[in-house]
Amino acid sequence: MQKIPVQQLSAEDIDSRVYNLYEKREKIFTRSIEGFFQRIRLYTGWPLLLGYFLLPWLNLDGRQAVLFDLPARKFYVLWMTFWPQDFVLLGWLLAIAAFGLFFVTTLWGRVWCGYTCPQTVWTAVFMWAEQMAEGERNQRIKLDKVPSVLTPKGWNKAGINKTWRRLFKHGMWLGFAALTGITFIGYFYGIRELVSDALLWQLPLVAVAWTVFFTLATYINAGWMREQVCIYMCPYARFQSVMFDRDTLVISYDAARGEQRGARKRSTDYKAQGLGDCIDCTLCVQVCPTGIDIRNGLQYQCIGCAACVDACDDIMQKMGYASGLISYTTENKLAGGSWTWKRPKLVAYGVVMLVMSLLFALVLWNRVPMSIEVMRDRGALFQELSDGRIENIFRLRIINMDNQAHEFDIAINGLEGASMVPDQAVLVSSGEIHDLLLRVQVDPAQLSHFNQGFSFSVSSRDGALNDETESRFIGPSTPVSRP
Ligand code: SF4
Ligand code: SF4
Repeated sequence: MQKIPVQQLSAEDIDSRVYNLYEKREKIFTRSIEGFFQRIRLYTGWPLLLGYFLLPWLNLDGRQAVLFDLPARKFYVLWMTFWPQDFVLLGWLLAIAAFGLFFVTTLWGRVWCGYTCPQTVWTAVFMWAEQMAEGERNQRIKLDKVPSVLTPKGWNKAGINKTWRRLFKHGMWLGFAALTGITFIGYFYGIRELVSDALLWQLPLVAVAWTVFFTLATYINAGWMREQVCIYMCPYARFQSVMFDRDTLVISYDAARGEQRGARKRSTDYKAQGLGDCIDCTLCVQVCPTGIDIRNGLQYQCIGCAACVDACDDIMQKMGYASGLISYTTENKLAGGSWTWKRPKLVAYGVVMLVMSLLFALVLWNRVPMSIEVMRDRGALFQELSDGRIENIFRLRIINMDNQAHEFDIAINGLEGASMVPDQAVLVSSGEIHDLLLRVQVDPAQLSHFNQGFSFSVSSRDGALNDETESRFIGPSTPVSRP
């Protein structure tokens, strides 16, 4: 582009060169499409939706199977109960999920976005509701142009039709969004309690506020913002290209085959006219939920939903041409090469994911659903008893994270001749945090050091659980003189 010194520009020139960085959103009226990949999207979307809505209603061992009980700081996932002490496991899980996503993205591109991302799945439901209320693409475009109910000329009949259709649409959107919000909060509050408390008007304000928040978030994201969430808000859309290489599966238009694009009669020899296979019907653009033209090349806005593939395959079939003008392919394949899995990045992601998953399974398998903590009494370092023995006081906390009650024996290791008061087994029920005041008494002659390390070991009588924690026993720094 030719550079012109700013002094030489007229006011009109400057005006015409000002670009608005905040482009107004162009409305997208997506045409519905059926086809092989859209059926796969149904098979991935439905289980996700059903899983999300039904899982909180599933009960196991007399409680909600999946419940994140924040006030009690306990997370129930099927048969397991996780405590804040287990947060390291959550860290592992997130790291595995991240590497899983890197691996899948390097291999299959944006398959997550197109088939399983909640934004895509929920938007598909909202688009279906929109089509129910307002009709197919052409009807929606027409309806959008209809003026409002009350015009300067009076009441507008077409506007009334538009209004009730819009009300119907937004009613469905809000209903589904409310269902989503209630279910989401049900994972934290308990779905049955949430519904019964709501029916009895006893729901705490905070639960109401969060339910309303998630309802509105769903309504706005899936109903109003749709592709803008993918294009402007989702960080994954921006950084996923880092994981792409020339063998990553992407949706691509075969320009060598499709160009020169142009309309033609089905029966004509289009090749003789210098035309390619693309009949320029723009159907691939009309079905695209992000409103892009894939014929312009790979774009970060493409969520890999394959709607354009199904649309174009349908056209190709009608024209009697081979399918695959738009298809899942790789840059290497388009350039005439072949696909290979032997790529350092792909192998590295796969190996890291596999190793981390195995270690995670191992940690989970060996996880002991109990925890003990010991604290020294802050009142005094030690006290001398009437019989000359030294006493230290400890607070022992036993947390039973198992799904059943256990009777625990407590023992002292590493303190010769030590006794403990009380010295009896304690019963700790499932999920209970049991605090115990323990007086440990030792003959000072048995102490090898005035600040001697030792440990408490706690084991359940059925042998299922045991744990150990260290502490220090403090005695006088000079030997105690006996009477
Ligand atoms: S759907 Fe296929 S034929 Fe129609 S414009 Fe798109 S690429 Fe060309
Ligand atoms: S270009 Fe094709 S695959 Fe990409 S978002 Fe649009 S319709 Fe979906």
